[in-house]
Amino acid sequence: MKETIVVVHELYPELLDSLKQSFDIVHFTRLANDDDRARFREAMSHAVAFIGSNVPFDRALIEQSPKLKVVASVSVGVDNYDVETLKAHDIVLTNTPEVLTEATADTGFLLLMMAARRAGEMNRMVVNGDWKASLGRDQFGVDLKGKTLGIVGMGRIGQAVAKRGHFGFDMPILFQNRSAKPDVEQSLDARQVELEVLFREADFICVTVPLSAETEGLVGRELLSLTKPQAIFVNIARGKVVREQELIECLQDGTLYYAGLDVFEKEPLPADSPLRTLDNVACLPHIGSATHETRNAMCDLAAENLLNVIAGKAAVTPV
Ligand code: NAP
Repeated sequence: MKETIVVVHELYPELLDSLKQSFDIVHFTRLANDDDRARFREAMSHAVAFIGSNVPFDRALIEQSPKLKVVASVSVGVDNYDVETLKAHDIVLTNTPEVLTEATADTGFLLLMMAARRAGEMNRMVVNGDWKASLGRDQFGVDLKGKTLGIVGMGRIGQAVAKRGHFGFDMPILFQNRSAKPDVEQSLDARQVELEVLFREADFICVTVPLSAETEGLVGRELLSLTKPQAIFVNIARGKVVREQELIECLQDGTLYYAGLDVFEKEPLPADSPLRTLDNVACLPHIGSATHETRNAMCDLAAENLLNVIAGKAAVTPV
């Protein structure tokens, strides 16, 4: 009898078909309603493996999945998983680092540029038929070239954003990181500073730190009120790294000039979120890694991790 794998993701069809040759696949594109969630829990009660994303793995789910050997996340962030409980149950957790770094850094830079040139507002003006004359000073944006870029969390994605700024736009780089990064200071001519210094001195700030107990709510009014008059703040990490209500208030009262956001406290963004109507924010629907090439590479790596663990081999990228 074939063993069961639970998939909660849009795996590309060829990969799904190849898994189906060796396993019973219970497939959800996403867990959209209570019925899906009930069927998901039932399938997990006899599954040996899970592959997917955006499913919170709490203690109860882990304890109700007695045959589970591997959780192959199609993401680099692992904030959805109770890592300690998985470890205590000898369940291997894997993620997909590296393969999504460049696409996510592109999204960071896209938001930096959208915010700098107020691209969301300008697009709405054209689409709504409000482009009636050549633009005036009230509609001008700001340059990137030569401005200081501050990175919060100088890991893989942070460094890829910083490289774009340093080599592409002559931007001096400041960064804050948990551990020292003398190699990055050298290769990008960057300066590691305290968070307050970064928020005070940077023209563009990009958050690329993982969500954890230490980083939840890291950015709020205290830091945002240190920013320069035309500072641009971008979050491509996780929504909960920022205290969203305080961010909204800072955008509303002018404490913060502009924000670019790929991630939010609640996703999809609720219908009544003021972020939907503020002019000085550019929002994207969590598209960090969402290119065909990158998502396929993430799926391939997750599947390789899963198959390795089931075959009794080491995962390629264990957490
Ligand atoms: P990474 O290589 O592990 O980098 C994370 C960096 O943050 C590391 O340098 C780490 O420092 C630093 N850090 C961790 N905790 C910190 C703290 N409390 N204070 C300061 N710095 C801290 O991870 P990555 O591949 O760059 O991914 C980063 C995050 O991006 C992911 O966890 C995920 O949440 C997010 N992400 C979002 C999208 C999207 O669609 N928007 C896509 C991919 C990833 P050390 O050097 O000391 O470890």
